[in-house]
Amino acid sequence: MDIFKKCFEYTDVKEAIEQGFYPFFIPLTDNEGTEVVYRGHRLIMCGSNNYLGLTTHPKVREAAIQATARYGTSCTGSRFLNGTLEMHEQLEKELAEWVGKDASLVFSTGMQANLGAVSALVGRSDVVILDKDDHASIVDGARLGYGKIERFRHNDMEHLERVMECLPENAGRLIVVDGLFSMGGDLAPLPELVKVAQKFGARLMVDDAHGMGVMGGGRGTAAHFGLTESVDLIMSTFSKSFASLGGFVAGDADVISYIKHHARSLIFSASIPPANTAAALAALDVMRTEPERAQHVNEIAEYMRKGYRSMGFNVGESVTPIIPVIIGDDQKTFAFWKLLFDAGVFVNPVISPAVPPGMQLLRTSYMATHTYEQMDRVLEIFGRIGKEIGVI
Ligand code: PMP
Repeated sequence: MDIFKKCFEYTDVKEAIEQGFYPFFIPLTDNEGTEVVYRGHRLIMCGSNNYLGLTTHPKVREAAIQATARYGTSCTGSRFLNGTLEMHEQLEKELAEWVGKDASLVFSTGMQANLGAVSALVGRSDVVILDKDDHASIVDGARLGYGKIERFRHNDMEHLERVMECLPENAGRLIVVDGLFSMGGDLAPLPELVKVAQKFGARLMVDDAHGMGVMGGGRGTAAHFGLTESVDLIMSTFSKSFASLGGFVAGDADVISYIKHHARSLIFSASIPPANTAAALAALDVMRTEPERAQHVNEIAEYMRKGYRSMGFNVGESVTPIIPVIIGDDQKTFAFWKLLFDAGVFVNPVISPAVPPGMQLLRTSYMATHTYEQMDRVLEIFGRIGKEIGVI
């Protein structure tokens, strides 16, 4: 059997492209933050993770340019060997201070941070316990570890307790959740999670890819709940509010040192390039000096939630700058996406199996740099199309 047979038979994508209905891998020719261009067609971007709008901030942009001018384009090696710059350690120190932990460790992507940290910690006799809606990088980190994987229903603390009750007595336990869930825009119930973790002697790790920069005055979801101390590990990425590429995990200095010397995705992969490191440092500085950005993105999101709800759209449990508009059917979701795209609004369609049947949605997300004029236009287009195809 030719191992490529499945590839030759994989025609779904080709058909979708031919029908002009393929909403993924869209090659943009311009991206100025809140507006992007696809083949001369200008769209308002409501599908980006650039929550604070910092990809085009003059200080962030300039920092990346200066770092490239000084250090060149790459570190051409792993952090472990030749690829550590003083700038990486500076960033680790500033991040640890920002999130309120002893130490932090910077990886080349958020995906690698989760792969490395979770797999390093979860050994043969350990158990990692995941929310069913956890990000793929957490699930993959758990799979790479040698321990057992248990899952509980999304944000269901009773189910989590039942799962915890059945664990082997002497197993090391690590609960890992998203702080702010990337599809639903809802928060993990950290106060309850901390209680369950303490009751069952488990450690708690929060992936705050979407909450960092946005919640808790920018310091993340743990800070939002006043639980910085009780959350053992805080992980995040630079590919969203930090307007860069990379990721980190922060916690107790001994735990971070252990991860640093055991995470294969850190040791066997090249370090985050100078431009990205400098951009993340500059973004962190903007978070400290321009706290109004975090506030503004939440105000914009609240405006949009009210707008959608008043027209009769279902926006689920969102309380953050991620707002799902639930359509509930694959075909209608794609049709809605296409009409929005043609009318100049960029959003992301999410269909099953990424979400359960009946929960197919358009994932919309907002930025501190969006204007109310842009938002009114988006609402007007959503309302018109929603009526046209019978969603509202
Ligand atoms: N965790 C979560 C919750 C994410 O949404 C993402 C990215 N979508 C990641 C981790 C991975 O981050 P990165 O893009 O830096 O690899």
